[in-house]
Amino acid sequence: LTVLGIETSCDETAAAVLRLDANGPTVLGEVVASQFDEHRDYGGVVPEIAARAHAEKCDDVVRETLKASGVSLSDVDGFAATTGPGLVGGVMVGMMTAKALSIATGKPFIGVNHLEGHALSPRLSETVDFPYLLLLVSGGHCQFLRVNGLNDYQRLGSTIDDAVGEAFDKSAKVLGLGFPGGPALERAAAEGDETAVKLPRPLLDRPGLDMSFAGLKTAVLRASEAEPLTRERVCDISASFQAAIRDVLVHKTRTAMQMVRRDLPSDAQPAFVIAGGVGANKTLRSALQGLCEEEGFAFAAPPLKWCTDNGAMIAYAGAMRLALGEQSGMDLAARPRWPLDEASAASAPVFG
Ligand code: ATP
Ligand code: MG
Ligand code: FE
Repeated sequence: LTVLGIETSCDETAAAVLRLDANGPTVLGEVVASQFDEHRDYGGVVPEIAARAHAEKCDDVVRETLKASGVSLSDVDGFAATTGPGLVGGVMVGMMTAKALSIATGKPFIGVNHLEGHALSPRLSETVDFPYLLLLVSGGHCQFLRVNGLNDYQRLGSTIDDAVGEAFDKSAKVLGLGFPGGPALERAAAEGDETAVKLPRPLLDRPGLDMSFAGLKTAVLRASEAEPLTRERVCDISASFQAAIRDVLVHKTRTAMQMVRRDLPSDAQPAFVIAGGVGANKTLRSALQGLCEEEGFAFAAPPLKWCTDNGAMIAYAGAMRLALGEQSGMDLAARPRWPLDEASAASAPVFG
């Protein structure tokens, strides 16, 4: 089964061709075109600019992906695209492209939930059996999910305000670290002292899996105004911020692991997965890997390039659905909001 996947829900125009067979998935070729230059002056993603950039780049990205994969359109068995959640202008571009290719070739179209792409992404590079505990940390989401299988996601807890990626991006902006903020803040943190600035660990003392990061962002703003922002100070605040995030995520993940453990046989070797753009952060990855050793969970995470948005994860989710005989209708509409634990692509209520 060979599937082309297209991703356009935020600020990367991406596509991949993936082959799924008895040995699992193989990515034959992929292209990711990021819009960093387009949004840099604004310090964040501007939806209108993103939509236009996707429209300009999408056809070329698909063409280059096919070329890099060494397959022609007639070799492709299905066309998958992110149909939500995300910025609706961008989502429309990828979705319409996949639908057009589907009509032109007479092969199925499959609408994919972007979060399902992230949720399944560790399986692109290693064997991770269901069920597993997933920490999805991205630009718009921060949640624990029990992934029981395709289409079977159980949300265990989430942030009550900002996503972790959002907190990274906004703190980076306050610190003058530029866009995109996450990787820039991680680099600054590597040079700083994480004990230099006292920052809160929100909801750490509260039982359960609610998380909150808005207050941390405000605390970074206050710290940035308290003293002149020298390079050293920026690095210290960055390191202290990253340490606060790490402490909260480690603590909440431990709670989530204990919850999941209770429902499993005592000899089970469950896996813990971190996915989404923030999963590319090396400090967080290694702290959570250490926690896995303590709690007896197998650690899994996609390679860095598949943490942030990419076409491979969309092609993979599409291929898995196609393999089950699922496909979407041409009347499927884009959904700006679409919780992962709600409903499947094919049966989901539509927007617009
Ligand atoms: P969502 O998946 O929730 O719709 P998104 O698609 O915009 O949001 P991703 O592409 O998965 O998000 O991730 C982007 C986010 O990851 C940004 O907020 C970015 O700052 C953050 N990020 C990327 N690399 C790192 C890193 N090394 N450290 C911390 N954060 C990072
Ligand atoms: Mg992005
Ligand atoms: Fe994403």
